[in-house]
Amino acid sequence: MGVFLRIDVDNGYSWENVFQKGLNKLCLNYPLIAPKLKIFGFQKYVPTLIERLREHDVQAGWFYQPYTVSKPDVLNLLKREGHTLAYHAVTTDILENFRKGKTFLEKKFGTEVKSMSKHGSGVLKLNRFHTPEYEPDKLLKFSMETGITLFTGNAETPDLPEEVHGTTKFIPGTYWINPSYRDEAKYNLDWLRDYAQSHTVIVLVHPLRIYMDKIVEQNFVAFLESGIKIEPFHHLEDQII
Ligand SMILES: [Zn+2]
Repeated sequence: MGVFLRIDVDNGYSWENVFQKGLNKLCLNYPLIAPKLKIFGFQKYVPTLIERLREHDVQAGWFYQPYTVSKPDVLNLLKREGHTLAYHAVTTDILENFRKGKTFLEKKFGTEVKSMSKHGSGVLKLNRFHTPEYEPDKLLKFSMETGITLFTGNAETPDLPEEVHGTTKFIPGTYWINPSYRDEAKYNLDWLRDYAQSHTVIVLVHPLRIYMDKIVEQNFVAFLESGIKIEPFHHLEDQII
């Protein structure tokens, strides 16, 4: 039980101007030729987020796409500060492609990947490698076949019961920081504080949304400053094993 923070890293650059948007598209669609340069603004909002988490002593799970993985210095910093590196799956049409994404990230991280989440809403195709369908049963099966022990789902209802299949735990819903994806009247910080006394809740946020969307930022700050204890993400992985 407890509250855990999941961060889905969906972008290389930002959306604040045409140049940044173009570089971002390149990262997501043509990763082999895309520059990942700090001078161009590659993930410039990530260090600020790391600092903010450090101030609140929060160790999150960072779910990376193979196309949005941070540079080694940032990955090393995250590892040093006790964060968990995980897999945000994009190509999930067949097991082989799912596994390829996981293996790619493990090489970049230099650590084993134990947790995964799926990119997208289940409807829109978000880049040219993206499998738009969100099929929890299939993703659970792929997780089990590739040694993933935690599959954190995208349902917008954070109190769906968790399931354990073999050595893999599936937590179907998350508490979205972005209030557009949450029933705000029901799922608020008071609810979270109370429910997490006896259940596991995964809170989800996207770094670029915090940077670009004032409402998301305000909700995120309110969460961090609420006094709700945020457990280190690796505790969740450890509980399972
Ligand atoms: Zn995503």
